[in-house]
Amino acid sequence: IIEAHGLSKRFPNGVVALEGVDLTIERCEVVVVIGPSGSGKSTLLRCLNGLEDIDSGSVVIDRIPLDENPQHRLQIRTEVGMVFQSFNLFPHLRVSENIMLAPKRVRKMSQAQARELMEELLQKVGMSDKMEAFPGQLSGGQQQRVAIARALAMRPAVMLFDEATSALDPEMIGEVLEVMKDLAREGMTMVVVTHEMGFAREVGDRFVFMEDGQVVEEGRNREFFTQPAKERTRLFLSKIL
Ligand code: ATP
Ligand code: MG
Repeated sequence: IIEAHGLSKRFPNGVVALEGVDLTIERCEVVVVIGPSGSGKSTLLRCLNGLEDIDSGSVVIDRIPLDENPQHRLQIRTEVGMVFQSFNLFPHLRVSENIMLAPKRVRKMSQAQARELMEELLQKVGMSDKMEAFPGQLSGGQQQRVAIARALAMRPAVMLFDEATSALDPEMIGEVLEVMKDLAREGMTMVVVTHEMGFAREVGDRFVFMEDGQVVEEGRNREFFTQPAKERTRLFLSKIL
């Protein structure tokens, strides 16, 4: 469902964040991206949904090419949901409005349809009782669960998670990971950047190790963790496991 080839990205300050990255992701696959700080993980996710322009290479998502065509870019934004480390909810809108906004504006849903969808999604993330709260009245874990519901409200074909639990207090990490596990079980296609290795090993179908803007190694669960092919992967895993 995702076909990325030869992705390169250099920032104006000269930093090369991505250098010839190839990434193919099948429908229903959960791919975990790991790598040291600055290796290009966030940039990769941002390039996949068009938040960041690439210098060269190609991205095709669900047969839609990410090119100059604004129609394609809009389609890809709706096909690809993204959840960040910081929750980015609209602080002045209630939880319910945060979730209904995009379906109404972009998907042109009626108020009633959007409301039904919102209720279904809040139920899914266990937040039904906070429908009328403002984001500032919620804990970090609750805000992140609402952020996931908001991303799901576009009915995306793919979800990208960039360190979705890194900003949370330890006791709230579990509740967000549970929501992500549920999504994985339901067959959502997911690309996940995370430091939560227990979670990663549980839900990850495939692992991608990045360093210096390149994919160093890819592997399936068992062999990737027990016998990585590359010394650099081994070194990194030995530090985080
Ligand atoms: P972390 O684990 O710390 O989140 P990362 O793997 O997500 O790191 P990126 O954020 O993708 O890494 O950054 C890759 C490289 O690009 C880094 O050297 C970073 O400093 C640089 N970079 C990222 N965003 C920008 C930007 N907007 N302008 C200039 N350089 C940037
Ligand atoms: Mg990052």
